[in-house]
Amino acid sequence: MSEFNLIEKYFTHAAPQADLGVGDDAALISVSTGHQLAISTDMLVAGTHFFSDCDPYKLGWKSLAVNVSDMAAMGANPKWATLAIALPNVNEPWLAAFSSGFFACAAAFNVDLIGGDTTRGPLTISVQIMGEVPTGQAIQRCGANVGDEVWVSGQLGDAALALSYLQGKQMLSEEVFAICAKALHSPQPRVGLGLALRGLATSAIDISDGLLADLGHILDRSNVGASVQLSNIPHSAHFGVELAGSMLQREKQAIPYNKNILNMLLAGGDDYELCFTAPAEKHAEIMRLSQKIALPLSCIGLITGGTTLVVHGLADEILDFKEAGFDHFS
Ligand code: ADP
Ligand code: MG
Repeated sequence: MSEFNLIEKYFTHAAPQADLGVGDDAALISVSTGHQLAISTDMLVAGTHFFSDCDPYKLGWKSLAVNVSDMAAMGANPKWATLAIALPNVNEPWLAAFSSGFFACAAAFNVDLIGGDTTRGPLTISVQIMGEVPTGQAIQRCGANVGDEVWVSGQLGDAALALSYLQGKQMLSEEVFAICAKALHSPQPRVGLGLALRGLATSAIDISDGLLADLGHILDRSNVGASVQLSNIPHSAHFGVELAGSMLQREKQAIPYNKNILNMLLAGGDDYELCFTAPAEKHAEIMRLSQKIALPLSCIGLITGGTTLVVHGLADEILDFKEAGFDHFS
C-alpha cells in the first residue's frame, strides 16, 4: 500500500471547519474574528507513553484526547488538528482501529484532522491541535492570586492505579481495574469545563504529570504558594478504603501512609482532569457550574503567599515528602 493510499484510506475525513483539509501541501484555516489561535503539540512514543502492543483504537482516542485536554486547560475551543505518525510497518487492521479511535475523539470534540505526515519508523505519534479563544480570554498558568481557592475536576489517581496494575505493582479486582483502565486509556478531556471557566478561573492546567507537579507549574508561573488538604483530593471509592485504613494503622502503630496510594493521588499522571484557581467569592458559582455540567468539582485548598506547596495529611499534619522518600515532590 502506498503512502498516498494509506493517507487517503485512514486519515482523510471531511474537515468542515477548515478552508482546505488533507491532500494539499498545506491546510488552510480562517480564525474567527476577535479570536486568538491556541496551538499545542503532544507526542506519544511507544515504550515511553504507551505499551507498543496496546489497543490501537484506544491509542487513537488518547493521542487526540491529550491534545484536546490542553485546549480545555486554556479555555480554548478545539477545532483543528494535524497528525504526524511514524509506523514500523503497514498493518492495516492496526491502522483501521487507530484511525477509528482517533476520529471517534475528533467527532466527540468537534475537531477536524486537516493534515499531517506519515513515515516509516519506530511507532511515534505527534499531534498538533489548534483551537480558538476570544482575544485576551485564555486561561493561563500565571494568574493565581493569594487567597484564591484551588480546585480539581473529577477524581484523581485512577489512571495511575491502572498503570500500577499493568506494571504488576498493584493487585486489583477485575471490576476496579475496568474502571481505572478507562481513565488510563480513554481520558475524557474537560472542554466544557474549560470553556465555562473563562472569566471565572484565574489560572488552569490539565493534570498530565500528577497533581503536585502540575499545580506546581501554576505556583511557579504565578509566583505564589498553596496549601492543599489530602482529605479534599477527589478520588474513587477504592482509594478511600485504603487511605482510611492507612490512617487507622497510622494512629495506632505509627505506620506511615501507604506510599503507593499517596503517590497515585498526588503524583500519578494521565488523569487529564483540570486543576484551576478562582477567587473565593466564586465558590458558589463554581459549585453551580459543577451541577450544570454534571462534573464533580472539588475545592482542595488555597493559594498562599510564599512559593511552597504544603499538603496537610488526614490528621491535619504537614506531610513531609522528603522524609517519606518523595524526593521529586520537594
Ligand atoms: P508533502 O510531501 O507535501 O509534505 P505528504 O505526501 O506528506 O505531503 O502528505 C500529503 C497530504 O496528506 C498532506 O495534505 C498532508 O497534510 C496529509 N497527511 C499526511 N499524513 C497524514 C496523516 N497521518 N494524517 C492526516 N493527514 C496526513
Ligand atoms: Mg508538499
